[in-house]
Amino acid sequence: MSNVNRIDRRRFLAASAATTLAGGALLTNRAAAQTREPSVMIDRIEVFPLRYPTAGHFKFFTGPHGSRGRAAVIVKITADDGSLGWGQSVPIALWSYETLETATVVLRDYFAPALIGLDPLDIDAAQAALDGALAGAFSTGMPIARAGLDLALHDLKGKLTGKSLAQLWDREPGEPLTLSWTLNPRSLDEVEGLIEAGWRRGYRHFNIKVAPNPKFDVELATMVRRRVPDGFLWADGNGGYDPDTALEVAPKLADVGVDVLEAPIKPNRISGYQALKRQGALPILMDEGVVSPVELAEFIKLGMIDGVAMKPSRCGGLVSARRQIELIEDRGLMWLGSGLTDPDISMAATLGLYGTYGLKKPAALNGPQFLTTHVLAAPLAIANAVAELPRGPGLGVDVDEAKVVALMKQTAG
Ligand SMILES: [Mg+2]
Repeated sequence: MSNVNRIDRRRFLAASAATTLAGGALLTNRAAAQTREPSVMIDRIEVFPLRYPTAGHFKFFTGPHGSRGRAAVIVKITADDGSLGWGQSVPIALWSYETLETATVVLRDYFAPALIGLDPLDIDAAQAALDGALAGAFSTGMPIARAGLDLALHDLKGKLTGKSLAQLWDREPGEPLTLSWTLNPRSLDEVEGLIEAGWRRGYRHFNIKVAPNPKFDVELATMVRRRVPDGFLWADGNGGYDPDTALEVAPKLADVGVDVLEAPIKPNRISGYQALKRQGALPILMDEGVVSPVELAEFIKLGMIDGVAMKPSRCGGLVSARRQIELIEDRGLMWLGSGLTDPDISMAATLGLYGTYGLKKPAALNGPQFLTTHVLAAPLAIANAVAELPRGPGLGVDVDEAKVVALMKQTAG
């Protein structure tokens, strides 16, 4: 991997030189499109593939690749005035088809070259360039990889203008966010101990991983509800039931005190989602399968969902996620704050989004639960299951490049 990265750096230095040499033509084209010349340009983009060490059992960090840690590609955009923007893509092979290797290649060889020479203050133009660099499938192509650049663009724009995410969006800064603890027991014997581990760290709200075994799931939910009568209890199936089983288990989960049911079936079981929503046993949310606001609007129109578990890291980043939250609120539906076990940089962006948009329910952001290190100059302020919102310019955190390089050499070299 370090080899790949060295090649990458040389290539981008070469790309920068080429941009400068060809600058006249490029600027002429852009000037025609934008009627002004940007005062700052994106000069260079570097990618740092690495893995964050993990603690505890989580089914997505198992197997030959997952067990080596939480994969991430850190993205660094350098503007020609020397300003920096940092972002992060967080592929999970056992959750999505995007892996550390595919994210690295698509960022380095497809997405990043499309942004060289562009105005970092024009995030819409950058998004259009990314759309043109890689075709989509059902929705936006390689959204988890893409999110890293979207985050880095927001960080760079914020750093250039001195504005936080809330200020970039003309919104009020939000309040600290309460977090939820993830329970993924392999047997029911483990449940009490896993709840206690969260309880000792101040967690009072729990999300449980369910499916495919409905009997196990109802017993698990019963145990959690008995121990935590007042907590928010959120069940996530990760598409693991078939539609008939989901229709059978939803009322039982409701009876034992589950509050919401996320992703009971795979996203392409459209009629199954419609049946679950019609059944009305529990609010039905989607996660997997919602990438852009386009299909979200379609799924709402088709009567498939009561809401969405949001994740900027899943849906191409903050631009897409913001539009989705606004769409959901406009339709009077529910959004919950979730994530992909986001490490520091992606976590900072996600907290900024959810805080700024006034998330009320506990957020299932379990990076602090499962990840044991960070690459920031100072860690995010998270204590007693409450996360302070980063308030500085851009994503509000300072990335320590020496820590990034050290973690890359240690885990992906
Ligand atoms: Mg989920």
